[in-house]
Parts: sequence; C-alpha cells; structure tokens
Amino acid sequence: MDADSEFVFELRVCQWAEREWPPGRQRRRPIIVARQLGTQYRRWDTIIIECDPDGLRERANFGSDRLDSDLLDVLRFAPAEWAWYQDALPDPGYPWRYVRESIHRAADRGILETRKRGRRLEIRRKWAYPDWVERIVAIENKPDLDASAARALAAQIEQDVALALADEVWIATEGGENRRLRALLEDVPVEAGILAVEAGGVEPIWQPRSLVVSDPGTLIDERPSGSEYDASAARFSYADPDWKHDKRLEIAERAYERGWRSYADTMRPDCRHFRLVDVESGFLPYCDAKSCHQTASVCRGACGDFEPEPPVWRTEGWPIEGGPGSGIKRLLDRQRRRKRPGLAAVNSGDETG
Ligand code: SF4
Repeated sequence: MDADSEFVFELRVCQWAEREWPPGRQRRRPIIVARQLGTQYRRWDTIIIECDPDGLRERANFGSDRLDSDLLDVLRFAPAEWAWYQDALPDPGYPWRYVRESIHRAADRGILETRKRGRRLEIRRKWAYPDWVERIVAIENKPDLDASAARALAAQIEQDVALALADEVWIATEGGENRRLRALLEDVPVEAGILAVEAGGVEPIWQPRSLVVSDPGTLIDERPSGSEYDASAARFSYADPDWKHDKRLEIAERAYERGWRSYADTMRPDCRHFRLVDVESGFLPYCDAKSCHQTASVCRGACGDFEPEPPVWRTEGWPIEGGPGSGIKRLLDRQRRRKRPGLAAVNSGDETG
C-alpha cells in the first residue's frame, strides 16, 4: 500500500473514532482525537483522549494552544493567593531562570497573574489547571498487513505494553477474513485490541486489556536482532510513574491543540487543485491534478503541479472570504473547535461552529 492510501486510512480511522468511539458501547466522556503524536521513543498514528467533561471545559480557560512541559510546571502548581514563585512552585530540577521565562510566557498569554514586590516576582493563578485527561488510547494503523509488517508490529506493541503509557493499545487494519488476520497477528501481545476497518465501518475483532498506567513502565532500549549470530542481550530502563504522568499530559496537550485536522496547516489548500471531498466517513483532501487523495508530504509549495488559486476567486463574489484555501482551513478549524467545549467563549473574537 502506498503512502497516499496509508494517509487516507489514518484519516478514516480518525473520523470513525470521532464519531463512534468507544466501539460497541455508549460514549460516556467527551473525546479528542489526534494523529501522529507520542514521545521521543514512540509515535502513534491515532490518539484518543477520553476526557473528564468538567475538566475539559475548564481546560478551555487556558486557550487553544498547548501548554508545553515548562508551562505545565508552572500552571499546575500556581497558587490561589499571591506568593513568591520560588515558594509556590516545586523545585523544577533545572535553573530557576528558566522558570521565570515560563512565568513571563504564561503572563503574556493571559493565563497567569504576576506582580513585582520589591525585587521579588510573585504569581497567582487565574484558574486551577484541571484534571481533564482520564484515559489515553493509542491506535497503530497498519492498513496493508503482511507477515513481515505483522512481525515489526508485534515488536512495537510489546514496547507499548511494557511501557504502559497509554491505557489501551489497538491495531487498526484493513478488514477481510478474520481468520487470516488472527493468524497474522498471533505474535502480537494479547493486550492489544484489533480493529478491522471496512468500507462500511470498523469492527473490533479482539478487545484489548487495560494497561496499568500508574505503575512503573519498562522501556525496551535495545533488543537482540533474532539472528543466530547475535548473542547480545536486550537492554531495558525503567520509566517511573511521575515521568509517565507528565508525558501523558504533554501528549494530551498536543492533542488538544492539534486534533487530527491539522494536516491542512502543512498542505496547500490555497492551491487551485485542492479540494475536500465528502466521502462516507467524512471529508478527505483530494487533488484534481493528481486525481488522488494527496498526502501532506506531497502537497507542498514544492509540488510540481502547485498552482495558486486565481486572485478572482478571492475578489469577485467568491462566497468564502479569503478564497477557498482560507475557507477550507477555517472549516477544519471550526470542526476542531466544536470538540473543545468552552473554547469558543474564551476566544470570543474567533470563529465558532
Ligand atoms: S497540485 Fe500539488 S499542491 Fe496542489 S493540491 Fe495537488 S498535491 Fe497539493
């Protein structure tokens, strides 16, 4: 399967998750779906954040942009009453001058109050940072599964299970005959769920086990190649629960900012050949010049077929202000914002859907 199809498969899984998650059960919590997120060790194709409803609404106070790890170090511990920042915050484990920079960044974003008392910088929170992330579900998309892809996948899923950074791990693959899929995936840890993706929908054919995210995890740093000449031993390191908690929050914050529709940010919807086509699962990008669903890596300014949308589209009666390219970006942004309750009210000047 080519990259084009993998990209489309990934978008279809994201669209399905946004509509149907959790499969076969009623949705009890709001969710946020994002793609291509993870840590320096592992990047997942699709991520689902299951959120606490009140917490998600309160998270909107901090705006649509993510809070990076430095900002989280400040905002999670900012006091309700004025206090010198070094009294209020736990020792960060890095120089305090970096903390001061984060405090000023937070103040510039309007999400933290600061004042000077003599030479001392004091801080006070505007809102308590909420506990909004309940569960994280990771989905590895492998549309075109053959024996060698299944072997590589088994090794990746073993790492996910050993680290237990996500509460659940799934594999999504092209549907077909269940027995064939089960045979291909027999070496994959039983903790991982399996989703069969068909044209008409997605069916879970193996349910996952919940992983214990509050326990220490194991990082598999190196493993023997499997060759009979390779006598090396596997190397492991441990991930403590605090590290895991921080990483989960950073992943959730990035998911909150980006969602899965952010592909348009790196593509060229301002090209005259770019369209969003309405397929059964939702909207997908389509290139009229290439007659296919183009990937983000192809759809760039360097694309040989790129042609800017004609100026007349922007000036003479084109129904969307700013031309179709801007209109597509706004449409996707509106759809993303609808999944972030409270955000529209906080950013009152922005468009809402
Ligand atoms: S021609 Fe190139 S830049 Fe234009 S929509 Fe197609 S892939 Fe994107």
